[in-house]
Amino acid sequence: MTHITLALTKGRILNDALPLLRRADIVPSEDIAGSRKLVFFTNQAHIRLLILRGVDVPTYVQFGAADIGIAGKDILLEDGGDGYYEPIDLGIAACRLMTAVAAGAQPLKGRVIVATKYINVARAFYAQRGRQAEFIKLYGAMELAPILNLADEIVDIVDTGNTLRANGLVTREHIADISSRVIVNRAAMKTKFADIQSILDALRAVVENQS
Ligand code: AMP
Repeated sequence: MTHITLALTKGRILNDALPLLRRADIVPSEDIAGSRKLVFFTNQAHIRLLILRGVDVPTYVQFGAADIGIAGKDILLEDGGDGYYEPIDLGIAACRLMTAVAAGAQPLKGRVIVATKYINVARAFYAQRGRQAEFIKLYGAMELAPILNLADEIVDIVDTGNTLRANGLVTREHIADISSRVIVNRAAMKTKFADIQSILDALRAVVENQS
């Protein structure tokens, strides 16, 4: 058997992915939540797990430092998708990518200023709508930008909408439905075909059984 490195996104996605992996018989050999480690072995000697920030998962998989990754579609859309396949929608950590504005804000006619960490996705979205826009990159707390007049709109992930509401914002346009996807390095898909295929089959079976 070849060694397989599986890169996981820490946080919400990890919490949803671990039970799924367990049902696919991939179980970390120690408690991930209570540890500061970044690499974990599993019950299957040839499979190890990396715990990464979401934005880094496609990079690790693209360059082959990880064979397989689990990341949010928002991150993959922003990344552009070079160097890996996206064979499975796990259906976990579902949410929406949306634009949002300050409650009561009038629709703007001219150039709009958009704050987001999803610059590429936002640029494509506004261009497709024929709307002139300028983009400000933020790494967090996007909700503050319209309130402090840093931007007219934001592009961000919305789940319940509580965070937006709590900060005086409302959603405006839907950009994409988001959930976590399995991605696979293109070269590894060939060179480690049997081992990767058996992991993908197990994950597919788990996903199909729960829907
Ligand atoms: P909510 O208040 O439920 O709309 O969620 C608000 C925040 O939680 C968003 O601004 C995101 O940063 C984060 N969030 C919600 N759902 C997800 C998800 N599926 N994946 C990653 N981040 C999420």
